[in-house]
Amino acid sequence: MKDLTQLQKDYAELLIKSGVSMKPGMRLFLRCPIEAAPFARLCAKAAYDAGCSEVITEWNDDAMTRMKYLNAADEVFDNVHQWGADMFNTLAEPNTAWLAIYAEDPENLKGVDPDRITRFEVNWGKAIEPGRERMMRNDMPWCVASVPTAAWAKAVFPDKDEEEAIACLWDEIFKACRVGGDAVADWKAHSDEVQKHVQILNELNLKTLRYKNSAGTDVTVELPEGHFWAGGEEAAADGTIFSANIPTEEVFTLPKKDSINGTIVATKPLCHNGTVIEGIRFVVKDGKIVEAHSDTGEDVLKDAIKVDEGASYFGEVALVPYDSPISNSGVLFLNTLYDENASCHFAFGEAYPLIKDADKMSKEELKERGVNFSMTHVDFMVGSADLEIIGTTHDGREVEIFRDGNFAI
Ligand code: ZN
Ligand code: ZN
Repeated sequence: MKDLTQLQKDYAELLIKSGVSMKPGMRLFLRCPIEAAPFARLCAKAAYDAGCSEVITEWNDDAMTRMKYLNAADEVFDNVHQWGADMFNTLAEPNTAWLAIYAEDPENLKGVDPDRITRFEVNWGKAIEPGRERMMRNDMPWCVASVPTAAWAKAVFPDKDEEEAIACLWDEIFKACRVGGDAVADWKAHSDEVQKHVQILNELNLKTLRYKNSAGTDVTVELPEGHFWAGGEEAAADGTIFSANIPTEEVFTLPKKDSINGTIVATKPLCHNGTVIEGIRFVVKDGKIVEAHSDTGEDVLKDAIKVDEGASYFGEVALVPYDSPISNSGVLFLNTLYDENASCHFAFGEAYPLIKDADKMSKEELKERGVNFSMTHVDFMVGSADLEIIGTTHDGREVEIFRDGNFAI
C-alpha cells in the first residue's frame, strides 16, 4: 500500500504527464487554490522534472473572493483589469500547458448579489474571449482536476470531522482518477476504454438523439452535420495527446444550436457561482431555453442563462453510464468535474467545435453548422437509472444507444 504522500506525488505526476502532456521547453500555467499550495508544489516539481521551462502560478482563495463580492465597490464588477485579461490571453498559446486545480467551496458565494457575479462574468468573459476560444479549440493542452479543500470536503461529508472528511475525499479522488498502481498506465488503459464508445458513435453518425426518463426528461436533440464524438484523451492543435479532465468518463459532442425540443430535468444539484441549484427543469424550443425553473437558486440559474445570447442555447451533449465508478461511489461531490462524470449531462453555453475540419472554417461557417458561441459553458446532470436514449441515423434507422441508464451499444 502506498502512503498518502506517495499517492499525491503519483497524482501530480499523472496531471503533468497525462493531463497536460508536459514536454521539455514548455511553460506551465498553474491555477490553484492557495489552500492546496503543497499539492501545487508537487505539480510544479513534476513539471520541472519533465523539462518544463517555467511554472507560472495564479493562486485563488475562496475567502478573499467572497469578501470581495460582499464588500468591494460596486463599479469593480463592471471593470476588468486589462493586465489580468492580458495575462490570460497571452498565456493561451501552444507552448503553454494549462493546469487548473478546481476545488471551490460549493456554497462560497451563497447570499452574494447574483447581479454582481453576472456583471463580472460578462465583462471578464468579453475580455478573455480570444484566449477562451483558443482553449476551446485545443490550441494548447489543458487539464482540469481537483484536490480536497476543507470547505469542499466538509460539504461532501458533513457528518465527518474535517480531517476525516479530507481523507475520505482524497480516497474518492484517487479511486476516480485510477491512482494507486501505475497511475499513468492505468489512466491510458481507461482512456482507451472510453474511446471504444467514441468510435461506435462516430461510425453510427447519428442525426438525432431522443432522451426519456421518469424524472421528466423528454427531449429530442439534433446533431450538426459533420459532428464527431470525443472522450478520453484528446489531441491538441499540434497533435499533442492530453486529457482535458481528470477524471473523465464521458463521451461527448455538440448539439445543433437551433434543434433541441422538449423538456430537460436535472437529476443532480448543480453548483454554480458558489450556489447550489437543485431541481432544474428547462423547457427548450428550437434550441432555446424558453422556461427555466429550479427548487433552489432559481435567481442564479436565470442569471446564468442570460449572460449572453448563446447562454440560453446548448453547447454539449455527453453520455456517461449510470453504472460507472464515480456514479457507483454514491457520493454527491458538489463539484461539476466529478458530478458530470457520474451522469449523462448537457451544457448550456459555448460548444466545443467538434466538427470535422472546424479549424479551416470561419466563425460564421461554424455558426451556420449550428455551433453555439457564448462566454459561458455550464454542465448540468440528467442521467438516471432508467434513462433511455434512442438514436436515429440519417437514413431513418433507430438505434438504442442507452437502456436503463447504460450504453446499449
Ligand atoms: Zn462534459
Ligand atoms: Zn462541459
